[in-house]
Amino acid sequence: MTVLNSGISWCTGTLNLTVGCTKVSAACDHCYAETLVNRGLHGSRDFAELRFFPQRLADLRKFAPAKGADGLVEPKMVFVNSLSDFWHEAIPDDFIEKALDAFEAHPSTIMQILTKRPVRMRKVIAARYGNRGVPANFWLGVSAEDNRVKGRLNILRRLKDQVGDFTAFCSVEPIVAPCDELDYAGLDWVLTGGESGPRCRPMEFSWLEQANEKAIEADIALHFKQFGAPRNNPLVVEMMRRSARGLSPTATLKMAVDLGAELAPHEKGGATYKGRVIQEKPPHWHKLKAELNSGRLVA
Ligand code: SF4
Repeated sequence: MTVLNSGISWCTGTLNLTVGCTKVSAACDHCYAETLVNRGLHGSRDFAELRFFPQRLADLRKFAPAKGADGLVEPKMVFVNSLSDFWHEAIPDDFIEKALDAFEAHPSTIMQILTKRPVRMRKVIAARYGNRGVPANFWLGVSAEDNRVKGRLNILRRLKDQVGDFTAFCSVEPIVAPCDELDYAGLDWVLTGGESGPRCRPMEFSWLEQANEKAIEADIALHFKQFGAPRNNPLVVEMMRRSARGLSPTATLKMAVDLGAELAPHEKGGATYKGRVIQEKPPHWHKLKAELNSGRLVA
C-alpha cells in the first residue's frame, strides 16, 4: 500500500513493496504491521506469508518534491516497507535489486530503508555500491530499541567503513528497556519513542533520556516521535500527582494540551520533551532541499 500521509511524523509517506514479516526481537512483540495484516487489509491474514507488490514502484512518482509550509520546495521522505522488512530473508535478491534500481532513478526522493536485519543489508549494499558509493537519496537505518540489540549499530558502521558516507540512522523505538549502551558514532539521525497501542509496554523516562541526551550531546539530528502512552509522559504523571480529581492518564493529557503544556497533541501520548518538541531532520534533507530550490537538482 502506498500511503502519502502515514501518520508517522518522521516520514512523508510509506511504500510497501512487500507486506508480511517474521519477528526478530523485543521490538516486534506488538508489531503494528501484524495487527493491520490480521485485519485482512492486505489480502492475507497470515502475517508470516510475505506478499509482493512490485507494481507499487510506479507510485514513486507520487513522491515528487513539493512546496512546504515556507513556500520552498521540499523533498519527500518515503519509509520503505513499513509493513515488512526490506531486507527480510524471504525477499529474492532480484526483487531487491529492481527496487534499488527504481530508488536510484528518483534522486530527489528520499528512501528511508529501516531494518532489523542489517546483516543482509550490509551484504547487498556493499556488493552493489562498494566501488561507487551509496546514492545520496538512500537513508539506511537499523532499529536498535535497547541495549540487547546494540550490535545492529556496529553492522551499520561497518557498512559505512566499506562503502563510504551515506545518511545512517537509528530507530530507538519502541523503548521498552534501558538503552544507555547504544553507540551513536557514525549516525546522522536518531529516532526515538515509546510504544503505543492497547497492549503497549511502559517506557521509563530515564530510558528515553538515555536515548535522547546522547543524540543531543553529540549534535546528531534527533526526532522524538512520541511518548506512546499518556502514562509515559512526565507532564501527565506530574499533573496526576498534583490533582485530587482522579482523572485518567488520557483525560489528564487532554488537560495538559488544553493548558498549553503539551505542545504535540498530534503525537500519541504527546511529544513534549523537557519543554520542547524535538523533531529534526538529518543534514542530507537540508542539503537536498537547498539543491532543489537552487535549481541544481531537477525535481
Ligand atoms: S521486523 Fe518490523 S515488520 Fe517485521 S515483525 Fe518486527 S516490527 Fe514487525
